[in-house]
Amino acid sequence: MSTGRLTIDLDAIAANWRALDGMSGETVQTAAVVKADAYGLGVAKVGRALAAAGARRFFVAVAEEGATLREALGPGPEISVFSGHMSGDTDMIHDLNLVPMLNSMDQLTRHFEALPGHAFGIQLDTGMNRLGMEPGEWAAIAPIALAQGPSLVMSHLACADEPDHAMNARQLAAFHEMTDGIDVPRSLAATGGILLGPDYHFDLTRPGIGLYGGLPYEEAKPVAFLDLPVIQIRDLAPGETVGYANGWEAERPSRIATVSGGYADGLQRHISNQAVLFHEDEPCPIVGRVSMDLIGVDVTHLREKPKSLSMLGNNQSVDDLADVAGTIGYEILTQLGARYARRYARGRQ
Ligand SMILES: *Cc1c(COP(=O)(O)O)cnc(C)c1O
Repeated sequence: MSTGRLTIDLDAIAANWRALDGMSGETVQTAAVVKADAYGLGVAKVGRALAAAGARRFFVAVAEEGATLREALGPGPEISVFSGHMSGDTDMIHDLNLVPMLNSMDQLTRHFEALPGHAFGIQLDTGMNRLGMEPGEWAAIAPIALAQGPSLVMSHLACADEPDHAMNARQLAAFHEMTDGIDVPRSLAATGGILLGPDYHFDLTRPGIGLYGGLPYEEAKPVAFLDLPVIQIRDLAPGETVGYANGWEAERPSRIATVSGGYADGLQRHISNQAVLFHEDEPCPIVGRVSMDLIGVDVTHLREKPKSLSMLGNNQSVDDLADVAGTIGYEILTQLGARYARRYARGRQ
């Protein structure tokens, strides 16, 4: 096999969900956010593992993702859609029993006209200015919306990964102002919000990245393990170069492994000459430019010729790689390519 191998540890995902669930009180429900194909890891397998761990409520970004998830989970669990009720979504919402988080007066009208009596939630904007109704709009609509019995009222924090950011308290205050006194379950916290403590938990939390081993949940168990097979190993004399544009030049006799994987697999060119891969616990630097399907790695210092090198695993988390790539763990995960041989494991070996 010459493609990279992506191993996804479903037990680690389940353990991360249980641990995040354990951080809020008994009466707080912990949902699971599985948008973008469960952050790139495969929504059917991941969704079923989370349901088996105890998750009863799932969130996706768009109705199409909800349809895929429904097929995987069957009729029981509740599936909510952040983008709400868009034109064209009505049949999916109805047939697959999805719960749209309505974001505007337009969506509210569309939902009540197309599917009267069908479950819905409300998304409020408390300052992020992305999705949801603003305070003025909500004040006008609340009596009508509440009379129809929403199953949830939610908002989203913009800076929850920075516990000391003043925005957190501002959004918390805004959420209280918009929702105190209403008799509907409330939700404000994603992974970062759970870590901010009980004031942010309300009735339901919505962790995503923490389930998949990413920051800001530092204690998360690693979930994604990526190993790239070595296709060739060659010895270079000083002055020889590696890859496109002669991106790296050997200053000493060097041994270079060419591994299978490149920017077409979500390993960005930006990590050229920057990131490392691991052979057991030994870091091996990338040399030269990452190309579409191949990466050169300096293995001069290894005693043996490696058969594969590890890009993600116990020695390098998605956030470690994200730091080098100038991005965040979320983006590393969601860009993991379709070409890898994916294996779903229960526990890591
Ligand atoms: C993505 C998302 C989440 C999950 O956020 P994480 O930071 O991944 O835990 C929760 N709520 C909303 C509205 C989101 O868009």
